[in-house]
This record gives sequence, C-alpha cells and structure tokens, in this order.
Amino acid sequence: MRLRDLPSVDELARDARLAAFGHGAAVAAARTALAAARERVRAGRDAGDVVAAALAEIQRARHPRLHRVLNATGVVVHTNLGRAPLAEAALERVREVGGGYSNLEYDLERARRGSRQEHLVGLLRRLTGAEAALVVNNNAAAVLLALAALAEAREVLVSRGELVEIGDGFRIPDVLARSGARLVEVGTTNRTRATDYEGAIGPDTALLLRVHPSNFRVVGFTERPALRELAAVARPAGLPLVDDLGSGALVDLHDEPTARQSLDGGADLVCFSGDKLLGGPQAGIVLGRADLVERLRRHPLQRALRADKLTLAALEGTLALYVDPERAVREVPVLRALREPLESVRARAERLAAAVGGTVEETVARAGGGALPLVDVPSAACAVEEGLAERLRAGDPPVVAVVRDARTLLDCRTLSDDDLEEVAAAVAAARG
Ligand SMILES: *Cc1c(COP(=O)(O)O)cnc(C)c1O
Repeated sequence: MRLRDLPSVDELARDARLAAFGHGAAVAAARTALAAARERVRAGRDAGDVVAAALAEIQRARHPRLHRVLNATGVVVHTNLGRAPLAEAALERVREVGGGYSNLEYDLERARRGSRQEHLVGLLRRLTGAEAALVVNNNAAAVLLALAALAEAREVLVSRGELVEIGDGFRIPDVLARSGARLVEVGTTNRTRATDYEGAIGPDTALLLRVHPSNFRVVGFTERPALRELAAVARPAGLPLVDDLGSGALVDLHDEPTARQSLDGGADLVCFSGDKLLGGPQAGIVLGRADLVERLRRHPLQRALRADKLTLAALEGTLALYVDPERAVREVPVLRALREPLESVRARAERLAAAVGGTVEETVARAGGGALPLVDVPSAACAVEEGLAERLRAGDPPVVAVVRDARTLLDCRTLSDDDLEEVAAAVAAARG
C-alpha cells in the first residue's frame, strides 16, 4: 500500500462505526490511527485495518488512565498501587463533601470565614491526646513545613543513624536543606546517645529531629536513645523535639510507634502519613504543642502544602472509625488485611484455587508503605502458571501478582472476598 492510498482523517472519521462515537472523538482517533498507519507504510509494512485501529484508539481514550487494579501481591500498603484503600465510611464522606458545597472554610455559626484546619482537630485530639493538630498534603510536606517554620537558617540535630532515604529519592538531609535549616549530625550510624545531642547543642540550635527507621532496621551493636531521654535533653535547653513517625499508627501494630506514645514520650511535635498504616487518604498529620502548631499554620508554605477538601473528608471519615478501635479493625481495609486470621486468608486462597484449578501456597505478606520492615505476615496464595502474570496485568481490571519459582502467586491477604470472582474471571481470560 502507498501513503496516498490511505484515507484522509475526514474520510476515516466519517466511517459509521467511528462516527457513532461523536465527530470530535472520531477525528481524534482517526488522526492517531492514520499517523501509526503512515509510519508502518513508510517502514515498508502493511497499513493494517485503520478502522479497527481507530476503534481501539477510541476505546483507549474512553478508558481512564488512572483506574482500579486488584492487588494480589500480599503487600498491604503498596506505594505503587495507591497505598491505602479507603474505608466505605471515608468514601461516603468524600462523595458528600465533594459532590456539592461544604463548610470547608465557612463558620456557619458566625456566618464568616472559617478554617479548613478546624474540622479534624477535635477528632485528632480525642484519638491521640494532642493539644493541637494540622493536616497537610503528605508527611513529606509535614516534615518540610515543621523544619521551615521552626528552624529556618538555624540548626537541626539529627542522629547519623536517621539520615535516611524513605523511598523514591526522598532523603531526610535533602528535605532539611530545602527547608532552609542546617543539618548537624550527631552520633554514629549504629550508635547514638542522648549525650551526643546534648554536646551538639549551641546558640544556633533550633530543634532536635528524630526520624523513625520506617523501612529498615539496624541490628547488632546499636544504640538509640529512648524518646524520653531525648526529651530530657531538649526540654531544659528550651528546644522542641520533633518526631517524624513515618507511618505512625493509632492502634497497636507490632512495634510501630503510635502517635499517642510519641506525645506521651515527650515529643513536642509528631508527624505521620495518612495513607500508610492509618489507612486513610494521602495526608501529613502534625500533632503536638499548640504554640508550635500555630507557627506551622502561620508559615507561608502552609498555604502551598495544605490538604484539599476531598482529603480532609476522607481523613475525617477514616479517623471517625478509630473512635471505636474494634470498628477500625473491621472497617479500615489496611487494618483488616493486616489483622485477618491466616485461616480465613487460606480459606479464600482455597476457594480461588478451586475456581481456577490452582494450588494453595503458604506465603509471607508485608505491611509495606515502608512500615514494619521485619514483620512477616503469614499468608496464603493461589498459585497458577507463570506465564499468566503478564496477561493478568493487561486484563480489565488488571491483576498485579508476584512471580516466584516459576509460578504466578495470587496472594489472598490483599484480595477481598468480593474480589474473588473477578480474579477467577481474569485468570480464565488470561488463559484465553
Ligand atoms: C513515609 C515517610 C515519610 C514521607 O511520608 P509521605 O506521606 O509519603 O510523604 C516521611 N518520613 C518517614 C520516616 C516516612 O516513613
């Protein structure tokens, strides 16, 4: 075929099968399909069926790029898969607040401007005992804001063992530099004592920063002062102690520090993520002394880093579940997945295996999200043929699984009962 034998964009778009989707969509798809066909012809190949290509293009364009996938990896807070799935109660709040107007920044009682930061303070105080609270876009923003507001052009003491990379290039020393604060390293990689901080305090010291070793542990000859010991150094010197908890938790989960423990232990400010073990939307939560929180709130960066109404609605919906911790464990998907007894995960794997003709395998699930790196969560998977993994990812909805020992493992800790039918259908479709 020669280039001039190809139809024009207009001719192709008038094909009834394409025109049925509307003129604009048909023209856009025809243009893309013809561009690809011309490439092929120039490369000496066949132009192919341009109508079919344009129809496929329309389907692609109509399908959202950001969409649901089924997580069969066994990693509960999977950063690449959107971290925490939201609880039903949180989604309801998003629908209500996002679908119409809201009192986001309106004080209904006084009929005047209110603050978006007011809505969550009561709940957060009740759940953690904190004096004051602030919510920003994510925990990276919370750390940045705390350092900018409390330590700009001054010194921040951090243990050498805590100058960590959290993931995707997010490094504590870089954030510190961007905040305008100066880093003063204390102690060594494996051992840092309270006296190391004490000895480093000078006239320019603004605060002590502690960073939770979220995604790693140093084992062996190690030492790290308890929060109390650090508070005993910071307080007499009149310096705030800021504790970056990373994931943070509101209920006990293995050795993950809870926000309340950190505040009780003497931290003046604690910050943590909304979408790690908390199981809510992406957010950074700052809790602690009212005078310090107020300095963060007044800093110009706060305006740039603040959370939007959908986040605040989802976070309020999630936090409200924690008022009854047992309800949180039942209804917050992250907690439910981490706490579900192995027998019930295995029963799901058995049902899936029966449905698709796979075998049940013992596996180890993970909390993920850079939390609880050493905690093995016993789990069960349905194993199917290795070759299916790629086709499962290409399915609708895509299923993301793990390939190990020449088999595709569908870990059932991160799949729900409601997902099973879809997964079984996806496996059947992938086998073609
Ligand atoms: C994850 C993490 C962060 C960043 O939190 P995001 O909510 O992902 O921005 C910061 N500090 C620590 C210790 C973390 O684990």
